[in-house]
Amino acid sequence: MNSELNLKGYKKIGIMGGTFNPIHYAHLASAQFVKDKFNIEKIIFIPTGKPPHKNNNIVEKEHRYMMSQLAIADNKDFLISSIEINRDGFTYTIDTLKQIKSFCDENVKLYFITGIDTINQIFNWKEPEKLFEYTNFVITERPGYIIDNKISNLDNKFKEKIFFCEMPQLEISSTDIRNRIENDKPIKYLTTDNVINYIYKNNLYKKDYITKYNSYIQKIKLVLPEKRFNHSLEVAKEAKKLANKYNENEDKAFLAGILHDCAKCFDLETIKKICNENNYKLDEVTQKQPDLAHSFIGYFVAKNDYNINDEKILNSIKYHTTGKENMTLLEKIIYIADYIEPTRNYFPEIDMARYLAYKNIDEAMAFILKQTIQFNQNKNRLIHHLSKQAYEYYKRWEK
Ligand code: NAP
Repeated sequence: MNSELNLKGYKKIGIMGGTFNPIHYAHLASAQFVKDKFNIEKIIFIPTGKPPHKNNNIVEKEHRYMMSQLAIADNKDFLISSIEINRDGFTYTIDTLKQIKSFCDENVKLYFITGIDTINQIFNWKEPEKLFEYTNFVITERPGYIIDNKISNLDNKFKEKIFFCEMPQLEISSTDIRNRIENDKPIKYLTTDNVINYIYKNNLYKKDYITKYNSYIQKIKLVLPEKRFNHSLEVAKEAKKLANKYNENEDKAFLAGILHDCAKCFDLETIKKICNENNYKLDEVTQKQPDLAHSFIGYFVAKNDYNINDEKILNSIKYHTTGKENMTLLEKIIYIADYIEPTRNYFPEIDMARYLAYKNIDEAMAFILKQTIQFNQNKNRLIHHLSKQAYEYYKRWEK
């Protein structure tokens, strides 16, 4: 992949940075309009490696690079660079600009092409003021977006480096393309044919989770009774939906849902064995009510038997029964999905829980914790201290 570019001899270079997940006609059109308006000689497309501002449902950087390369293939003035995807850690534009500048003549003028949404965020980027030392910015008009006060009130030394470029408003977005693919809708005329072919050939953005996680599903099927297995599958689907709603990673949510009860049907002997092997001591309440142990033990089972190393997934399994104070988004998603999934036997409070789950996740936590504590008290069961602490924490969201 082309990291080193020879940009010597050019006076004006445009930079079209993007996640390109996937690249589409509005990206290409923006680049072309800016090129024409500012007499720019070459535009460099730079797919981001690991963007600091996005973590959700981004396909591998190699795929985004390949799609970008295909999209620009028929334009001799468009080049592509892999400097960002070859860089470890988060991708920061300041590092990219320094690198690009080193490929160019000393007196080159750089034009970083951006939509309004991106420029509004620029003062949250790394070394924002330094960015302006390296490059001009060209903002392309985009439907419905308004320039932030922070930008319009900028000091003149920054303002004089910001230009605007009118172009026909194309209401195309990568998010829309991904959603269309997921929902089996056509994407023709939204991006180039060779990108469309690449997407279908590599099965990108089509989230057939059952196929994708089939090995986990088949394995868990062997250790859970049918009803519990079906419940796990439904928790996974519900968790994925909640992850989509709250912008959490859908893959992690689905996987955590599938595995959340991986230790549910273990007998006491096995529970003790796993505790010994992992140097883990069950607390007093769990010793008296060992059915509570499955979530704590599930952490080790998911890690050791299912090779899950992601602490966010492991902890969402660990706390899915008791909850705890100040849970991560993924922990809340699994806790709630476990309670509201559609095959749960009906009880009156479930309708409210299902409503709140998609209205406000913390309000849903408060509601479900309260119901669960009351339910267990009515059955004369001990309430785990983590559940008490969780309710104390989340009750501030109670309405
Ligand atoms: P993206 O979603 O792939 O979009 C790339 C660019 O195309 C954006 O400026 C976007 O504008 C624009 N665009 C998308 N659809 C458009 C349409 N229909 N009409 C006109 N323009 C459209 O890329 P991104 O994730 O926003 O990233 C943009 C660049 O910012 C990347 O180079 C990234 O590395 C950089 N960035 C750097 C930092 C940092 O250094 N800390 C942080 C964040 C981003 P909108 O702005 O309107 O979406």
